[in-house]
Amino acid sequence: MAQYTGVAVSPGRVIGTIRTMAPPVAEPAADATLPEGADAQAESERIPAAAAAVQATLVRLAERASGDGKQILEATAQMAADPSLTQTAQGLVLSGGKTPERAVWEAGDQVASMLENLGGYMAERATDVRDVRARIVAELRGEQAPGIPEVDEPFVLTAIDLAPADTATLDPARVLALVTSDGGPQSHTAILARQLGLPAIVAAKGIHEFSDGTEVFVDAGFGTITDEVTEEHQRLSEAWAELQRNPLTYEGGGGVLADGTRVQLLANIGGAKDAEKAAAAHADGVGLFRTEFLFLDREDEPGVEEQTAAYSETFAHFPGKKVVVRTIDAGADKPLPFLTDADEPNPALGVRAYRTSWEKRSVLTNQLDAIAAAARSTEAKPWVMAPMIATVDETEDFVGLCRERGLEPAGIMVETPSAAIIADRHLAASDFASIGTNDLTQYTMAADRQLGSLAHLNSPWQPAVLALVKATCDGARAAGGDPEAFGESANKPVGVCGEAAGDPGLAVVLVGLGVNSLSMTPRSLPAVAKVLSTVTLEQAKDLAAKALEARTSEDAVSLIRANLPILGELGL
Ligand code: PEP
Ligand code: MG
Repeated sequence: MAQYTGVAVSPGRVIGTIRTMAPPVAEPAADATLPEGADAQAESERIPAAAAAVQATLVRLAERASGDGKQILEATAQMAADPSLTQTAQGLVLSGGKTPERAVWEAGDQVASMLENLGGYMAERATDVRDVRARIVAELRGEQAPGIPEVDEPFVLTAIDLAPADTATLDPARVLALVTSDGGPQSHTAILARQLGLPAIVAAKGIHEFSDGTEVFVDAGFGTITDEVTEEHQRLSEAWAELQRNPLTYEGGGGVLADGTRVQLLANIGGAKDAEKAAAAHADGVGLFRTEFLFLDREDEPGVEEQTAAYSETFAHFPGKKVVVRTIDAGADKPLPFLTDADEPNPALGVRAYRTSWEKRSVLTNQLDAIAAAARSTEAKPWVMAPMIATVDETEDFVGLCRERGLEPAGIMVETPSAAIIADRHLAASDFASIGTNDLTQYTMAADRQLGSLAHLNSPWQPAVLALVKATCDGARAAGGDPEAFGESANKPVGVCGEAAGDPGLAVVLVGLGVNSLSMTPRSLPAVAKVLSTVTLEQAKDLAAKALEARTSEDAVSLIRANLPILGELGL
């Protein structure tokens, strides 16, 4: 029997056979030339034939895919049909005597460099050319194509980590669960798996010891993978499958605890498209609008009018509802050329997020002007907040800028231990707080959220992180509130908008610690609402107190799972 443990990032329990992601295609030797007497013409003709086969496969995959994945596959298929790559490669065989594999490799480099030199949209296509090149070389060698295995039976996909293009083509109908040996809980892979509702575990060292075809039980509630499949595992995976057939529903109206206590359930979004999906999922509003997502590919600061239009389009999906807008959070994993310094030695600890306004104040004030204009032109109620606040001076500065523009309420994100520990003073100077548990965890545990090797530290279940959530709620209570102004409780409102809010077991703990609203990917709303409905506020407080006293994050998870049997019953 073998069992490996990683970090559970998207719940679910399944039994399936392992298929390993094919390794990247190795570069053919630089001096690979045709043997003496080889038929160069015949060899060169193998290239368009291989490209046609690759194109056919991609078209077939595109037919089965949907959304972003379909588009990526269609674009890659078109690239495979483009004669510039194959003709350049054929020329290298005929005039340079290269092997077809080496010729395709070099031609791919030439075409990709040409696109990179053109810049902009064309430069982005260079990655697609290199992908197509690798697929053609694999085809010429008779090897498995790189990327997600193309087998008909659904399987458990194991990989070191996934490239964004691979993640976009993940099809939940074929991939039962995803287990990576690398990657962190906040990685691109983890976030996408959660959006797809695909059970996923990251940072599971040793997973590659399982050979292809091994039957395993994946528990993406606990983060374990084992090849000893028991009757209990069968029962758990059937419960999860039943949940997929009859998914939980959420009709809006917030989370209602068993005693009638209400908790706002909100959505995390990155723009108007997400807002539309969030409204369709009945989110009660938006708890985190990551405005920087609109501008990640920009070299220059977007103008006020352009920003106003983008915010208005987003707000329009939530008329009369709360939309918490976070001002641009650039830096670290989200560099913006017009705002952040790419040469900082420790970008996560550098001039990022609100701090960028010290030097480039107009970027923040322009954005606030645009938010205020969008608020005037729509019926949404923007709550504006700044990311990465540490000192009370910063809070006062930010709130002052918002007040000057009539933007109320004005709040802060609690992402640094400093903001949590003196939350009473921060909240005395502002209207609300939203806890970003992703960053709060990385700064509390001093563990880079992007590093798979530190994933075990990067859990919001860490008792120290829970203690800081409690400190924030206690601070909000001490600062008092104005229920009439914002229609919430007697404390200054405190939300959680990090990934923790979408974990149903942790959601109970957060509410028990005193959090008023939870903001998550819309897909998590039904499970969070369901699990909250099974506990009273007193029970949630009791569970929160127990989790706070746990010795380790693993103990906290086990304890809550043992006390909330609904999680197991639902296969979560
Ligand atoms: C967080 O840090 O928890 C958060 C919500 O912000 P982001 O993930 O965008 O840094
Ligand atoms: Mg953050």
